[in-house]
Amino acid sequence: MLDIATSYDRQSVTVLGATGSIGASTLDVLARHPERYRIHALTACTRREALRDQCLVHRPAVAVLAHEHDAAWLRDELGRAGVSTEVRAGEMALQEVAGANEVDVVMAAIVGAAGLLPTLAAVRAGKRVLLANKEALVMSGALFMEEVARHEAILLPIDSEHNAIYQCLPPGHRGRLAEIGVTQLLLTASGGPFRGWDATRLVAVTPEQACAHPNWAMGRKISVDSATLMNKGLELIEACWLFDARPEQIQVVVHPQSVIHSMAAYSDGSVIAQLGNPDMRTPIAYGLAWPERIAAGVEHLDLFSVARLDFEAPDEAAFPCLRLAREAMAAGGTAPALMNAANEVAVEAFLTGRVGFTRIPGIIESVLDACDVKAADELDVILAEDARARRVAERHLAR
Ligand code: NAD
Ligand code: MG
Repeated sequence: MLDIATSYDRQSVTVLGATGSIGASTLDVLARHPERYRIHALTACTRREALRDQCLVHRPAVAVLAHEHDAAWLRDELGRAGVSTEVRAGEMALQEVAGANEVDVVMAAIVGAAGLLPTLAAVRAGKRVLLANKEALVMSGALFMEEVARHEAILLPIDSEHNAIYQCLPPGHRGRLAEIGVTQLLLTASGGPFRGWDATRLVAVTPEQACAHPNWAMGRKISVDSATLMNKGLELIEACWLFDARPEQIQVVVHPQSVIHSMAAYSDGSVIAQLGNPDMRTPIAYGLAWPERIAAGVEHLDLFSVARLDFEAPDEAAFPCLRLAREAMAAGGTAPALMNAANEVAVEAFLTGRVGFTRIPGIIESVLDACDVKAADELDVILAEDARARRVAERHLAR
C-alpha cells in the first residue's frame, strides 16, 4: 500500500511574521511534517539575526526584511553559509511572497495593521490563509470578507478562540448562524494577568507585569492587549466577521484556566466546546492540515491535573476596552480601524514608558470621539483613517 505521506504533493508555505511567537510555533509544526510542507518564504521586520537562524534551518526560497540594509546583511550572512535563499526588502516584497503563484498556504502572523496589505495579497491570490493577524480583519472586516469570497480563498482562523468556534460548527458551514441552529457564541477569555484587580491597583502596573501572561507566551503587543481586555474586544469584532455574527450573539466568558478555548451554543440546548492545553501549535496544525489532523507536538489535556474549570463575567469597569470594542463594532464603518490604530499607538506608548497602563482606554476613547466614522468599503479610506487615528492619538499622548 502507498505510504500516505508520499501520496501528497508537498504544500508550499509562506510565513509572514516568522520571527514572532506565532511564526516560531508555525515553524515548529512545519518541521514535524517535512513530507507535507515546504517553505517558500519567511519574513520579519527588523530581527535579522533571528531570521538568519531560521533560514539556516529551514532553507526557504525567499526571505524578506523591512529594510534594505538588513536585507544586505542577511544576503551576506547566507551567502557565506552557502544558503541560496533570495533575500528581499520592503512592503511590496511582502505582498509578493504572500501572493506568489507557487504558494499554497500563507500564515498571516505579522502583528498589527502592518499585516493588512500582505494578508489581503494572500486573500486576493486565493490562498489558504491562516489568520493570526486579527488586526487586519478588525480594520477592514467587510472588505476583507468580500475579498475572501470573491477570490475563493480558504480562510482558517488561528486565534485559539475562533479556531475553537470553527471546530464547534458543522463542517463546511457558511452564512448565518441561525441557519445552522447556533444561538450564541461563547468567547472565552483568561482575564489576563490583572484579573480581579481594581482600577486603583492598575495605575502602577509595569510593561513587564502586563507581558507576563498567566497561560500563554505571546508577543508583547498582544500580551498588553490581553491585560487590558482589548484583545477580547478585537476578538469579538473578529468573531463577528468570521462567523457572520452580531455583537449581541457573542458572550465573553472569563475562564482563567484557558482550557476551554471557546464554545458554540445551539437551539436544542447543546453547548459544544473545544478543549486543549493552551498551546498555539494546536490551532496552527489544525489550519495547516484542515480538514485532516496532524501531530502538533502538544500534550493531551490531563483533566485530572486541570481538576476544575471556573467561569466569571468580565469586569468592564476596571477594563473598559471590551466595551470600546463593542461600541466600535456597533458604530461600524471605519470605527474599528480607528480603534485599532489608537490602541496600537497607546500600547506602544505604554511599552516604551510614555504613558501608564490605565491611560490606554482613555486615549482610544479620545480618538474615537475626535474622528468621524466613514464607510469602510475602500482600502484607501481605511488606510487613511488608520493614519489619521495615529496622528490624533499622538496628539493626546503629548498632552
Ligand atoms: P510577535 O510580536 O511575537 O511577532 C510579530 C511578527 O511580525 C514578527 O515576526 C515581526 O518581525 C513581524 N512584524 C512586526 N511589525 C512588522 C512590520 N511593520 N512589517 C513586517 N513585519 C512586521 O507577535 P505574535 O504574538 O506572534 O502575534 C502575531 C499576530 O498573531 C498578532 O496579530 C496577534 O494578535 C496574533 N495572535 C497571536 C497569538 C499568540 O499566542 N502569540 C495568539 C492569537 C493571535
Ligand atoms: Mg485569542
